[in-house]
Amino acid sequence: MKVLAIANQKGGVGKTTTAVNLAASLAHLGKRVLLVDLDPQANATMGSGIDKSKLKHSTYSLLLGDSSIEQTLKNSESGDYDLLPASRDLAGAEVELVDATARETRLKTALAMVAGNYDYVLLDCPPALNLLTLNGLVAADAVMIPMQCEYFALEGLSDLVNTLRRIKQNLNKKIEIEGLLRTMFDPRSTLAQQVSEQLVKHFTSKLYHTVIPRNVRLAEAPSYGRPILAYDKSSKGAQAYLQLAEEMLARHDALEAVATV
Ligand code: ADP
Ligand code: MG
Repeated sequence: MKVLAIANQKGGVGKTTTAVNLAASLAHLGKRVLLVDLDPQANATMGSGIDKSKLKHSTYSLLLGDSSIEQTLKNSESGDYDLLPASRDLAGAEVELVDATARETRLKTALAMVAGNYDYVLLDCPPALNLLTLNGLVAADAVMIPMQCEYFALEGLSDLVNTLRRIKQNLNKKIEIEGLLRTMFDPRSTLAQQVSEQLVKHFTSKLYHTVIPRNVRLAEAPSYGRPILAYDKSSKGAQAYLQLAEEMLARHDALEAVATV
């Protein structure tokens, strides 16, 4: 089981869109996938067709120890991946966990209970370096960082990298950056192209070849509670996320093959 945190403390860079659509794409390619919603806004939950206001259990109750992972698990509306859904009360978890024991390792402990059941666990982190994101980064093997190709794209990246460094020293030695993903790319924008070229120059091996284009179908799909594959499979957005899943799997297969030589 590989646990991948999708994180960037900037909001609106495509974390949730990537989490939902990568989950569906990996499932489409035959992988067993669990998506974990760690954002109180619960966009990944709603985007998976699960009504956040009707939940008995959620990542909130899970982190507080009030529900087990089995009790909290849901199947996405499209049925191809599992979900640990979020509800709005997750926003209070941070305050309630302040004095709790093992407050940073609660998600990790919960996920260990289902380790044999999934190939990939994707964590949709909130737009902040808070205790919820920390739980994600402690539970993760690697981090995927979605970023928009705009002028301030790199702003905040050093805070995230410094946080990762601290986590690597203290809480999770194995964590690494899996890759940076260019999202909402508009090829007609000169600025987007320039920023993209800069990213290629600086992050060569850490940058996914796949670029996610700006595509209105990707923005529409969540209002139907569906990943893009179940909404408009032939759209550019759907094809891009499938390609990303394939690129990721090819990379992991290659690394595994090298490790067994
Ligand atoms: P985050 O989770 O980082 O805050 P979201 O994934 O929620 O970001 O994306 C922010 C907004 O941009 C959402 O309304 C989403 O539907 C839209 N969006 C994300 N990716 C794309 C894309 N590639 N093309 C068009 N709209 C997108
Ligand atoms: Mg989000």
